[in-house]
Amino acid sequence: MGKNCWCGSGLPHEACHKAIEDKMRELRAQGYRLPNKRLIKNAAQIEGCREAGRINAMVLDKVAENIRIGMSTQDIDDIVHSYTKELGGIPATLGFEGYPKSVCTSVNDQVCHGIPSKKVILQEGDIVNVDCTTVYNGFVGDASRMFCLGEISENAKKLVETTREAVDIAVSHLKPYCHLGDIGYYINKHARENGFHVVRDIGGHGVGLSMHEDPYVCHIGRLGHGILLIPGMIFTIEPMINETSGDFWMDEQDGWGIYTVDGTLSAQVEYMILITEDGYEILSK
Ligand SMILES: [Zn+2]
Repeated sequence: MGKNCWCGSGLPHEACHKAIEDKMRELRAQGYRLPNKRLIKNAAQIEGCREAGRINAMVLDKVAENIRIGMSTQDIDDIVHSYTKELGGIPATLGFEGYPKSVCTSVNDQVCHGIPSKKVILQEGDIVNVDCTTVYNGFVGDASRMFCLGEISENAKKLVETTREAVDIAVSHLKPYCHLGDIGYYINKHARENGFHVVRDIGGHGVGLSMHEDPYVCHIGRLGHGILLIPGMIFTIEPMINETSGDFWMDEQDGWGIYTVDGTLSAQVEYMILITEDGYEILSK
């Protein structure tokens, strides 16, 4: 038998990633851009990521059951922290590069990275993104959802719906050996068709063995451009879509909060995706 596969599966290369590697070599010779092989996860790693994604979605389900008008974003943090622990996981954001909380809660004009606070009380008409990242058995799950509190404005409703649709449309076009740029193309197209604006400079990312891996997933892209997506790659798609402009500013005081430039609304939805041999699998949403 030949050498063991580079993916770390312990299997002979011939029986493992040889076919994919041959195909990648052929495509590279045709001029396509291919990712580094290190971004391709083996079967055991994929199973670990699948479990972490499942646990992460359970934490978001718990938030969905409990979120209500009158609660603070700190209350959401408390729910995420205690339920993640109960499930045997670790909130990945807590202490990450100094981030002080177990979840991000971005309300209305907050684009992302909102720090939970006792002072931020959810009110009728608010839209809030809850972004959860969970470490489970050493693997990382990552997803976020939008929650709408009570009656929200027509435009808020349209923005949240458009953001959800944009992710679903982009995901529906995923297949092995499609281009990374296709994702941003479909998201930006759908946002613009509805009169909204995608944030260009904050994107999705590879995930699974750590919280932020390559590749960077831009939510504005060109069809047929960028690296090809290979079976075994795991990454997030998480567009931030704004009402009036894709521009934003960062709160220098807390060092994290990102806000729309003019105080209008922003929505975000995040899925964690695996590229498979015949399509894709949503690992967390
Ligand atoms: Zn292999």
